[in-house]
Amino acid sequence: MNSFTYKRAGDVAEAVAEISKNTNSKFIAGGTNLLDLMKENVERPDELIDLNHITLKEIEDTEDGGLRLGALQTNAVTAWNEQVETRYPLLSKAILAGASPQLRNMATNGGNLFQRTRCYYFYDLATPCNKRQPGSGCSAIGGYNRIHAILGTSEACIATHPSDMCVALAALDAKVNVTGKNGDRVVDFADFHRLPGDEPQFDNTLQPDDVVTSIDLPKNNLVKNVVYLKLRDRQSYAFALVSVAAALEMEGGAIKDIRLALGGVAHKPWRDKDAESELIGKQASAENFKMLAETVLKDAKGFGDNTFKIELAKRAIVRAFTDAAKIV
Ligand code: SF4
Repeated sequence: MNSFTYKRAGDVAEAVAEISKNTNSKFIAGGTNLLDLMKENVERPDELIDLNHITLKEIEDTEDGGLRLGALQTNAVTAWNEQVETRYPLLSKAILAGASPQLRNMATNGGNLFQRTRCYYFYDLATPCNKRQPGSGCSAIGGYNRIHAILGTSEACIATHPSDMCVALAALDAKVNVTGKNGDRVVDFADFHRLPGDEPQFDNTLQPDDVVTSIDLPKNNLVKNVVYLKLRDRQSYAFALVSVAAALEMEGGAIKDIRLALGGVAHKPWRDKDAESELIGKQASAENFKMLAETVLKDAKGFGDNTFKIELAKRAIVRAFTDAAKIV
């Protein structure tokens, strides 16, 4: 680990001003991923700007009937918050599927969005990795790639995004409130993370001096029929091979609203809104969910060790939605 200086930001404006002064500085909140990356010398900031003394911990109603989650509230408090549990149970389930209780006590809502991939080669400085060192190559393509992506990949990178929380936020059409040197703006969750393309070093679309201040959950009726299914190599403290955020609003046996986001399969939580819309008005049946799974995975591509994920993802989608619809 290299030497670094430490500074506390007293408010958002000070945080933005401080980080703008030094292109090799980083924000720190819970630090549950950043400190690991620093210990491994993958991240080498020479200054850390601590956000923890800024009061961004609210969980409160928005004017349009949604719920706002403060960026610096912990994942644990958020998951167990009564409003989140009753109005957005998909999010609560997804957060509790991730990490461990100790990590969820430290990790923040804003920080969760900035988790970096768990690709083994990204952490191994002895191997080429375009995300860590642009232009050096990708060791996972042609290497061992059991945990890697099957959708939205590029010739430069096949890494996956590791978060569970973000999969639910994608399904819930969350909005991210951001403050940067040019003021405040709102980023649709679908536009927050990016696919690798030929610049896999960038995980998201924010500027380096942007601060995430809160995450808004729009009002919805996705309460009774929701499932977060996480498939992994062991039952706790493991990242998803495939995860499915499945949510339905039903009218009789018909689908009135449907949301599907996949984790563990791409560089960002994966949504296919066209495939979802094909099911509106149709019966909630295993046959229709199989059709959805085939459509969503139609362009999936395996790289050898991870090819099993294509079939796994299809089966996981069908299982999650038949459970969500309570089809016996
Ligand atoms: Fe690096 Fe991405 Fe290739 Fe992993 S998949 S080695 S993160 S470029």
